[in-house]
Amino acid sequence: MSLQQTYDPDNIFAKIIRGEMPSVKLMETDNILAFMDVFPQSKGHCLVIHKKSEAVNFLDVEPEALNELIGATQVVAAAVEKALKPDGLRIVQFNGARAGQTVFHLHFHVLPVYEGVVVAAHASGKPASHEELEPIAQSIRKAIR
Ligand code: 5GP
Repeated sequence: MSLQQTYDPDNIFAKIIRGEMPSVKLMETDNILAFMDVFPQSKGHCLVIHKKSEAVNFLDVEPEALNELIGATQVVAAAVEKALKPDGLRIVQFNGARAGQTVFHLHFHVLPVYEGVVVAAHASGKPASHEELEPIAQSIRKAIR
């Protein structure tokens, strides 16, 4: 699959934006949505997307949307740090299936890393339940400035 691909308006994140698929939300504005990753690689793993840009990846995003997205990612990352006190934090972004991208709506991962805890495999395993994600999300929401 090429890096230059057409945006599919029925991808999972587009459905989450439209409210057609459930998600555990952290922050929502007119243009930005942050929500918990349903296959968390660590406690507090979450995603930040632009709601209006139809960018598939980093290469085709409009500069203004990228600015908003990266700014929001910093806000969410700071809240994750404050709420969960991880020992490290990865900001991750994949471009193209070959690179590991599985959802073709541009997004940034905020992935906390904890001393002595192995980071789980990417986008695999059993999905976390709403009950598991909600208390973590609550603590992150409280820390969002
Ligand atoms: P990518 O592989 O494209 O960088 O990341 C996509 C991310 O979306 C993965 O980490 C995966 O766990 C997550 N994901 C896939 N489907 C869903 C879903 O339906 N809801 C949520 N909240 N996350 C999802």
